[in-house]
Amino acid sequence: MANWISNSRNAQSVDVDMSNGATDVIIASLCLAGADIAVTNWQKRSLQWIAAHDQSIMGRGCVSFDVADLGWTTIDFDAQHRFMLQVVDRALMHHAWDKLPYSPNAEIVDDMLTRIRKLFCEFTIKNCTNDALEWPLAPPTSIDRCAAHGVFMHAHGCPLCNESQARCGDHPE
Ligand SMILES: [Zn+2]
Repeated sequence: MANWISNSRNAQSVDVDMSNGATDVIIASLCLAGADIAVTNWQKRSLQWIAAHDQSIMGRGCVSFDVADLGWTTIDFDAQHRFMLQVVDRALMHHAWDKLPYSPNAEIVDDMLTRIRKLFCEFTIKNCTNDALEWPLAPPTSIDRCAAHGVFMHAHGCPLCNESQARCGDHPE
């Protein structure tokens, strides 16, 4: 099993397929990249939502998502869109990769991030239908950061901490 990120609102968009291992890196990279620049409630919630795509909790190969599902609102769309592109750009600069418990294959991850960036670019205000954020798990009841990694946590903690714990146990890929 594997995961993918799609943009179902644009027929031109090509899904980004990710192995389970690559998914962990992509989710962690986006969470780390956004942690220091999130200011508004929407920005923090969107990072919590990305963090919730945590294979240690949801199961390996069970965290695919569509960029349309990020809880975009027409009224603030431009700022939201700028923020998400900024998050991906910072991930492309490997922001805070020193906090990852492994050394990712930069070439593979950068290629995926570049294609994820394209998906976000191809998601425009015309595609925004003001749908509420749909959480893959129960929504977090507060906005908290992981003390160790600084990322915004979902209802079941920090994806990086959860992954490290899963790696310590007998958790074959
Ligand atoms: Zn953590």
